[in-house]
Parts: sequence; C-alpha cells; structure tokens
Amino acid sequence: MLGTAEPVVLVGERAPKLCFGQGENEMSIPIAQPMMGPEEAAAVQAVLASGELAQGRWVREFEETFAAYCGAKFAVATSSGTTALHLALLAHRIGPGDEVITTPFTFVASSNAILYVGATPVFADIDPRTFNIDPTCVEQAITRRTRAIIPVDLFGHPADLPRLRAICEAHNLVLIEDACQAHGACVGEWRAGSTATACFSFYPTKNMTTGEGGIVTTDSGEVADAVRLLRQHGSRQRYIHDVLGFNFRMTNMQAAIGLVQLTKLDGFNARRISNAAFLTDSLKASEVVTPTVRHGVKHVFHQFTIRVSHHRDELQSMLSERGVESRVYYPVPVHKQPLYAAHAPAGASFPEAERAAAEVLSLPVHPSLSDQDLHAIADAVVDTANRFT
Ligand SMILES: *Cc1c(COP(=O)(O)O)cnc(C)c1O
Repeated sequence: MLGTAEPVVLVGERAPKLCFGQGENEMSIPIAQPMMGPEEAAAVQAVLASGELAQGRWVREFEETFAAYCGAKFAVATSSGTTALHLALLAHRIGPGDEVITTPFTFVASSNAILYVGATPVFADIDPRTFNIDPTCVEQAITRRTRAIIPVDLFGHPADLPRLRAICEAHNLVLIEDACQAHGACVGEWRAGSTATACFSFYPTKNMTTGEGGIVTTDSGEVADAVRLLRQHGSRQRYIHDVLGFNFRMTNMQAAIGLVQLTKLDGFNARRISNAAFLTDSLKASEVVTPTVRHGVKHVFHQFTIRVSHHRDELQSMLSERGVESRVYYPVPVHKQPLYAAHAPAGASFPEAERAAAEVLSLPVHPSLSDQDLHAIADAVVDTANRFT
C-alpha cells in the first residue's frame, strides 16, 4: 500500500487496537509478546551469510548450551514441542497396547503425542491448587499396561516431579516431562528438563522462542540417539534408512535465535516472577484466587492464571473493554474434546480439571509489560471483579 499513511507495525511492536470511548490511539495489553532484539537479528544474519540454513552447527551449539542450562547430559532439537513429545515417546519404545497416564488439563499436544504413537492416553485428575497432575490420582490410574507418565509443568509451575519419579521407579515406568511451559523452572535443586526425559517448546508465546521449535533433553545416550535418528528420516548415514523416521529437524536460523534467547531467559523469567508478585499482591483487594507456588518451587509464570468462581466470562469481556487481553487456558479439558470421544472411556469424569476449565483466566504477565501496564491490569481486575461480589 505505497503512498498511504498506513503505519508500519514493526516486529515486537504492539498492534494498535481501537477502544471505543478511550481515544483512538489506545493500545491493548496483549496476553503474550515475544521479545526480539538486534542480537537475534544479527544472529540470523550470520546464518544467512553462511549459507548453512538447515540443521547444522548452530543447532548443535544450541543443543549443547540448552542441555548444560537444564543440567541434562543431552539435548536434541526438533521442529516443535509437539514433535519433541512424539519422538520422546517413540525413543522410549512406547506404542500400541501401552497406556500412558497424563493430565486432562493441558494443551492438547501433550496427549496427542500419545495417540501419534498408537498408545492409549489415560487421564488422571489435577491438584486444584497448582493445576498439575495429582500423583495420588496417577497411582490409582496405573494398570498392567501402563508404560509411562507424562506430567505437564502447567503455566510454568513444575509438576510434583519428586513424587512422580518415585512412582515411576516403584512401578518401572518411563517419566516424560512436558516442560513446554517451564524453561528455567525448578523443584528444589532440580531444574525442569533435568529429572527425566523432557520436552520443551519454543513457540512465540513461550518463555523463550525460536519462532517454532522444540527440544528433548535426557540423560540417556540411547534415548538421545533414537531421537536424533527419528528426526532425520531414520538415517545415520546419508541415504541409508534403518527405521521409519520423520523430518522433524530445527533450522540453523531457529537455533541462532534460540542461542540468543537462552542468554536472556533468566532475565525474562525474573521479570515474569516480579510481575506475578505485583499482580498477586494487587489482586488481594479482589475476590479472585491468585496462583499458588509450592514450597521449594521456582514458578516461572508462563501464565499468571487466576480462578474466578463466578462470572469468569463477563470478567474477561470487561477486561477486554478496558484494553486488557486475557485468555482461558484451557476452556475444554482434553477428555471432553471431540477428538477424544473415541479415546476417553465413556462417562469419564475428572472433576478438578472440569472445574478449572470453568474458572481459570490467564492475565498478561510477560516481560515486556511496563509498570503502567501492570497497574492497568490490576486496576481493571479489581474494579471489575468487585462489581460481581
Ligand atoms: C506449547 C505446548 C506444547 C506444544 O508445543 P508446540 O511447539 O506448539 O508444538 C505441548 N505441550 C504444552 C503443555 C504446551 O504448552
């Protein structure tokens, strides 16, 4: 549109949104905002100049750096968090006839990975305080066919990994941590990605991003090898294919961005944590329930998720009118998804997951929020929530 006065929206700049009655330049506060700087641009330029665009030395360096950050022996990069989960299950030889226990309160990818490998997802209800899978419910769901457990570190709060690991050891099960929302989170001395085979996503809304991308971390050389083989068409030697694999590779451009983002991750997380502390404190003036942080846990606030027991949807639309974007993660638990009608036992009920789906609302908490944004979010929630109580 040459010659028009249309403003150009630069990468990372907020898209202007019209808020009626509040002035036409009012910007809304987005729920997520990837932070890309000149360092990421320069890193991509270096890859472009090298001509090595597909998987190569940047990917290898990113894998080594990410493994070291997590405290895992190996990391293998993939095209997404979803393909990381898919390959992690295959690498652990989980397939048809096997049951895998996971949470019904997550993004559907956690559970779809189980379907991709032909295994059967079995759901276990959540702890209403952390929204994470409840280890007691996991124990009740174990059968002779159970092979693995996939806990999710939902919203950046790690699952109860010490207890889940003990359950896996007692029953000889594989633990695959879905850490797609928990880069840098910790339980005690354990960092996400260091206690089991773990999968991360680098989608733009996550705590660090490569655009699209994922990674599997593990201490098992065998699992790392299998993931490497499977992401590369089952081929160790060019044009010799040992097994049926995939093209689930990451590109050097993505890895170059990831290397820069990883140097910023702790800073991003520190901002998320202090933003969350501000919101938690400010929302004491309202009836909403603010997030729980378990003792000894470093919660990295991928999302700041409140519970609103009544009028959640009205609160969300009133926040939107005040220029505060909020989202319901997740409105429909996995076992209630149409896709899962054939996979979840008829009449299966997970009351805590269902109640959470009806009550949760995630507010902006990302590191690019200004103090003014934070006050605007807190004021909007307090004013609005108090109208309903
Ligand atoms: C984002 C996410 C995934 C999938 O990652 P993609 O990179 O989008 O494929 C899986 N599980 C959870 C919990 C996620 O949040």
